[in-house]
Amino acid sequence: MNIDSIKITDIQLHKLKIPLIEPFTISLGTMYDAENVIVIILTNEGITGWGECSPFMSINGESADTALVVGQYLKKILLGENPLEIEQRVKEMDAVIYANNSIKSAFDMALYDIASQHAGVPLYQYLGGKKNKTIFTDYTVSVGDAAKMADDALIIKEKGFPVIKVKLGKGGSSDVERVKAIRNKVGLEIPIRIDANQGWDKDEAIATLKALQPYNIQHCEEPISRHDFMQLPEIKQHSPIPIMSDESCCDPHDVKRLINLEACDLINIKLGKSGGIFKALKMIRMAEEANIKIQIGAFLESRLAMTTFAHLALCSDNIIHYDFDTALMFSKDPVIGGIVYEENGMIEVPEEKGIGAQIIAGFIS
Ligand SMILES: [Mg+2]
Repeated sequence: MNIDSIKITDIQLHKLKIPLIEPFTISLGTMYDAENVIVIILTNEGITGWGECSPFMSINGESADTALVVGQYLKKILLGENPLEIEQRVKEMDAVIYANNSIKSAFDMALYDIASQHAGVPLYQYLGGKKNKTIFTDYTVSVGDAAKMADDALIIKEKGFPVIKVKLGKGGSSDVERVKAIRNKVGLEIPIRIDANQGWDKDEAIATLKALQPYNIQHCEEPISRHDFMQLPEIKQHSPIPIMSDESCCDPHDVKRLINLEACDLINIKLGKSGGIFKALKMIRMAEEANIKIQIGAFLESRLAMTTFAHLALCSDNIIHYDFDTALMFSKDPVIGGIVYEENGMIEVPEEKGIGAQIIAGFIS
């Protein structure tokens, strides 16, 4: 096949709305549904690329509706272009409109799906990855009443998930009580990771993290407002618990800043923040050089995007944590193919060419 001959002939944008089994609550608000956008890129060679994003209004300033509108601008400049020249396509999308990383990530994902299908390999191989580790997801406890959180955590442990993620950030002293209640229920052995989603201020963060020291916490995501990242080094110095940057770590510029400041021990990479795989790979290489460990995380994507994240997770030994549980919170699974979740959160990445997952017709409008 001649590389020059492949062209984008059409791009379709669809909304995908799926109710969650139960509401998902973090310090920034409660979600009842996943409201995502699916991007389908068609080519003259019969290869079709699938992409998905889950715009998170309070984190990336996009909704499914804005993503559908901005997606039309991106569609206009990509039509007729070569889908295999991904760097060039990403530059063109950035030239058309600043930010809007969520919808850009769905386009980027579909381009990588095409490129890896065209190369005849699964996406993880196209990205230089290997199946040299076991991928498993944590499962997340919504923030709320301490006793209910403890009951939810016990169910997660009994299902066999190897890690429990706990949403906090509703007030330092009540958050300590929440973790205490959970540890009383699940014991001290199973790893717990926590996420304050920017809910504390600096002094509260330091005091809370110190108070949580006895509870065997793996790491803490985004303790304070993303705008106050200059205060992260001080928190990191005083915290007995490793600090992971999430909302303050969207793209390669943020990684550079955080490394220079020595602001965090780990970073959380999400394609919906980075604008897709192309920039996420840059972030991964920067973190490798600075010896910073990585979690690959998600918003409320279905198994389509989650499969892409799992492929990406295989492309660096520095990626050691996986937060891929939201697809398990869907009341219906709209995806055919893709990753398979074991009951205990273990994930099998598909060997089909490309991402290896698609949305079932009828779920998208
Ligand atoms: Mg987070």
